[in-house]
Amino acid sequence: MGLLSLGTPLHWDQAKHYAEHVRYHGISQFLNTWDRLKDRQGDELLWGDEVEYMVIQLDTDNKDAVLSLCQTEVLAKLQALTDDMNTKTGSSAVPPVFHPEYGRYMLESTPGAPYSGSVHDLLLVESNMRLRRHLARSNLKPDQIPITLTSFPRMGVPGKFTEPYYDPTEAVSSHSLFLPEQITNPHARFPTLTANIRRRRKSKVAINLPIFIDNRTPRPFIDPTTPWHRDVFPEDAEARNGAALIDHIYMDAMGFGMGCCCLQLTFQCCNIDQSRRMYDALIPIGPIMLALTAASPLWRGYIADVDCRWNVIAGSVDDRTEEERGLKPLKENRMQIPKSRYDSVDLYISETWMNRPEYNDNPLPIDQSLYDRMRKHGIDDLLSKHIAHMFIRDPIVIFSELIDQDDTKSTDHFENIQSTNWQTLRFKPPPPNSPIGWRVEFRSMEVQMTDFENAAFAVFIVLLSRAIMSMNINLYIPISKVDENMRRAQQRDAVNQAKFYFRREVFTPASSRATSGATTPNGVTTFSYASSTISGASPNGNGTTNGLHHLAYPNGCPRRKQRVMENCFPPPPPPDDGLAGKDVSEEYAEYTMNEIISGRGDAFPGLIGLVEAYLDTLDLNDSEQRRITSYLNLIRRRANGSLKTAAAWTRDFVRSHPSYNLIRSERGVRRAPDLLPEDYTGSNEDPSS
Ligand code: ADP
Ligand code: MG
Ligand code: MG
Ligand code: MG
Repeated sequence: MGLLSLGTPLHWDQAKHYAEHVRYHGISQFLNTWDRLKDRQGDELLWGDEVEYMVIQLDTDNKDAVLSLCQTEVLAKLQALTDDMNTKTGSSAVPPVFHPEYGRYMLESTPGAPYSGSVHDLLLVESNMRLRRHLARSNLKPDQIPITLTSFPRMGVPGKFTEPYYDPTEAVSSHSLFLPEQITNPHARFPTLTANIRRRRKSKVAINLPIFIDNRTPRPFIDPTTPWHRDVFPEDAEARNGAALIDHIYMDAMGFGMGCCCLQLTFQCCNIDQSRRMYDALIPIGPIMLALTAASPLWRGYIADVDCRWNVIAGSVDDRTEEERGLKPLKENRMQIPKSRYDSVDLYISETWMNRPEYNDNPLPIDQSLYDRMRKHGIDDLLSKHIAHMFIRDPIVIFSELIDQDDTKSTDHFENIQSTNWQTLRFKPPPPNSPIGWRVEFRSMEVQMTDFENAAFAVFIVLLSRAIMSMNINLYIPISKVDENMRRAQQRDAVNQAKFYFRREVFTPASSRATSGATTPNGVTTFSYASSTISGASPNGNGTTNGLHHLAYPNGCPRRKQRVMENCFPPPPPPDDGLAGKDVSEEYAEYTMNEIISGRGDAFPGLIGLVEAYLDTLDLNDSEQRRITSYLNLIRRRANGSLKTAAAWTRDFVRSHPSYNLIRSERGVRRAPDLLPEDYTGSNEDPSS
């Protein structure tokens, strides 16, 4: 979860006095990065995933499963193990990396080294995820398992839901009615984040998820498990004074959100401009993938009427005061702020001609003096706004030892603000003293129960990113419509019930212009395509979507297929007839998930169609082809409703078992034909099974 620094963390009453200092020097540090690396070119594709786990303690005698607060010990063991693997294997295979996370029952794992653009690496993703799960599992006790559930269904219920048990009346950081202090990673950063968010906000966070209503739900639903009359912390009165809504599941602590697990992907881009294009291109994809990966319908022992974690996390770290939330006139605070610091992206940042100013239609409070400073330094409007918008936030955790830094060497202050702006996408500048280039992180997806599914979504996104960049695909819609899609994506069964705003015409006039033989900065020659092929896929074209497959046959001749996915793409040339486009409101419409993923006849090949067109340019062997086909089928079948999301599957499982105990390890879901395709054999290959 970003930066972990060691030192003495400041109470909010002291930390707030350094907010200006951290912001000012954070920008100085960013300007230094900019000066050094803005012209950096030609980075190859490197990419990697992050998978988060909950460690579950099984009590087979009592048929119970609780969260095991064993993170510290397990991480120490895993560290020793991977160090040992390092010495044994030398440099040939890099062992995976395990990271701490917010919850003391959580683990995060990443591959030991990023994947390259080689298509061979696409097959490593799933086996690497399996290895990581196996390593985690084999360093746990026999009755403990690492599971990839997005939300733990019984977190915060009365009685025991952790091993060991702790009493929530001692939750000195969160003051929660439900979660004990010990739910949180003991590293100073995490309790301080929790406490300082509460102190800055001047109340506890308040999350209210609508309860799922069926004929067994008492109405009105007033939660009998909330200790309404507790009187331990001053904030205990909040629930009874209106913070907890009727007919809702009320949650009052950072742990409910930051204790969720997700699946994230990071891609290194060719240069800064392409990372900005990629960032923008993936913004409208965020809510689509959130709906497709929906996996969290159960909260604090209840069934919610939503399927996703997103708004829970947004609420769980919402440090805005009442003034900033627009509930009181501004007196102490600088400005109203429409969103939590964990929320969807507010601004497209690419300077490509495709990015029309009209698309940036969200309110965008910025720190004006920092914006002016970046503009004066020569940074363009959009990037300056992006940073100045993140920098309206206060730093929440400041370590006294790290207040004074050398801004030419450190980016700690920049990262302090950046890493506590948790958005659907993150634009990651290169870190100091490392060979790493400009990166983009895709952050909206919920973690899936099996590594097969997690690998499928990871591989899909990396292929989609290549398809978009190589074919100059234009996915822009107004960013307010992306936000509306985020809202819809979290609704119960959004995959089947909701429609989503999506661009009507994704092929650009530039897609149809020959870009023959364009040579990229790393010297790789990119493919070209004839105008008839791509326009044939457009609604007013006269060809068919099969025209897309001509991507592999520029000028009618087969292009030599590649074993390496390219990373450098020439900027899309503007259309010949100028930029004057349609009215923006005519550029998008509402579509079903199935239409977005699998297409609408000749009008649009769907995201999978784009990926397949791109795959045609790659030289895949049979097993690569088969594996990728099974990944795409999973996604296609999620989108058409013939396989359930984990959220739907879990909801149905619970509803059909009135006296349930929800325990599903990766192995437990092996025979679930409504969740996984018939040919799913994944777990049988799992070394842990
Ligand atoms: P964070 O938690 O800050 O998002 P992590 O270190 O947990 O970051 O995960 C970063 C991911 O990026 C890992 O999957 C890692 O393999 C991958 N990665 C590492 N180096 C690069 C690189 N140069 N380009 C792209 N991805 C990288
Ligand atoms: Mg994480
Ligand atoms: Mg991480
Ligand atoms: Mg991450």
